[in-house]
Amino acid sequence: MSLHIYNTLSKKIEKFIPIDDKKVKMYTCGPTVYDNAHIGNFRTFLFEDLLKRWLQHLGYNVNHVMNITDIDDKTIKRAKDESVALSDITKKYTAKFFEDSNWLKIIPATSYPRATNHIQKIIGLIEKLIKKDFAYLHKDGSVYFDISSLKSYGKLTNLVFDKKNNNRRSKDDEYQKKSVQDFVLWKSYKKTDGDNYWDSPWGKGRPGWHIECSAMSISELGDSFDIHCGGVDNIFPHHENEIAQSESVTGKKFVNYWMHSEFLTTKDVKMSKSVGNIYTISDIQAMGFYPESVRYQLLSSHYRSKVIFSKKKKIESDKAILKFKIFYNLLKSKNANKITGKTLPYSYIQFRKKMNNDLNVPEALAVFFVWMKRASSNIENNMNTTKELGEAWRFTVIFNNIFDFISMQMEKIPKNIKNIVDKRSKARNSKNWVLSDKYRQELFNLGWVVVDGKDGQKLTKK
Ligand code: AMP
Ligand code: ZN
Repeated sequence: MSLHIYNTLSKKIEKFIPIDDKKVKMYTCGPTVYDNAHIGNFRTFLFEDLLKRWLQHLGYNVNHVMNITDIDDKTIKRAKDESVALSDITKKYTAKFFEDSNWLKIIPATSYPRATNHIQKIIGLIEKLIKKDFAYLHKDGSVYFDISSLKSYGKLTNLVFDKKNNNRRSKDDEYQKKSVQDFVLWKSYKKTDGDNYWDSPWGKGRPGWHIECSAMSISELGDSFDIHCGGVDNIFPHHENEIAQSESVTGKKFVNYWMHSEFLTTKDVKMSKSVGNIYTISDIQAMGFYPESVRYQLLSSHYRSKVIFSKKKKIESDKAILKFKIFYNLLKSKNANKITGKTLPYSYIQFRKKMNNDLNVPEALAVFFVWMKRASSNIENNMNTTKELGEAWRFTVIFNNIFDFISMQMEKIPKNIKNIVDKRSKARNSKNWVLSDKYRQELFNLGWVVVDGKDGQKLTKK
């Protein structure tokens, strides 16, 4: 089975066929840098990381563009609240976003365009939209997209809009428009914007959020590209409006595959700053999470299902990762990494099928862990062939390249830890189980887990 993915546009699982053979152009909506990103945001960013890793595994060359939203109401408000320049806020939180992404082992995008570096391109797009009668200038100097001008408006969301009755005025929107549903492309200057404005053919102002993403994606990836991702809350209005703007300007299909990940929640409520149920990376670091454990908890469910974040689930993810680590160490102890060859175990084919089926991670993980258990028992009992050992190593490396659940660098065992292991070894030789357990606990408290096997004690980092 070749890669098939669920396309929000068609509401179907479709075979993935890139525009340009083995090259994939992918745009993902990035963070709005007015505060620390929370792990809800990172659920979406991790899904996108997984998708990219899987595409790379399938041999695609992925050009991944993730924008940084560095001008909008929230960034301006934050700068005003803190009495600092907008760029002080956006630089600070962009740096923190990169630091947090790096901690989570997210592979960097190919480029990270900033909205503020694309103002002239944005103005160019709006000029074209006005010229083609898709947009109009309001008397206050703001420019709006006229949704009644575009027949296909609503195709991503499948919403039916009351385009005929398009003459009602929006009651409480501060930017007045012809219809409630028309959306802003250029916001005319207001006092509260402070120094944050640009000159345009319509006077001082700043761009709307949706046009920023159209300008950045078209400028980095061209008029049409393969994949556009985001969280489900981006579907409407953000992505619907991106399609409207981009296709009205270019006259071409904007994006072939739209992919959206479901929410990370606490209990049943979407994790968001406005609800106040967020955890930042610093919060979960303080709770004792390590990156692999977060990766496991956020990636092990299907990306189109909601995930409830909980501290309790950490036990489950820690256990799975520990088992994987022990298996990896077992392979290393048998020098499996030195066995040459290219073949893979049959379970890899099943694993690949599951991943190719719209990234069915829960089933792919089940295939891997069932296989790992069997392989582990065979190896421990010396019931494997050299060929099987080599295959096990290669599958393990592939698996970890995709999920990054363990660090594949050899763990250096510090001297104090080695001393305790030696003492435990002596205690075990003299069958002093109480003392042996005491040393096990001591190691655990210092961050190491000891597992007793036929070949003696095996040590891994927690
Ligand atoms: P923002 O910084 O608000 O523009 O959000 C950045 C990304 O995080 C967008 O793709 C959102 O759809 C996504 N996102 C926000 N909240 C959540 C959540 N609770 N679960 C999953 N994704 C989210
Ligand atoms: Zn966007």
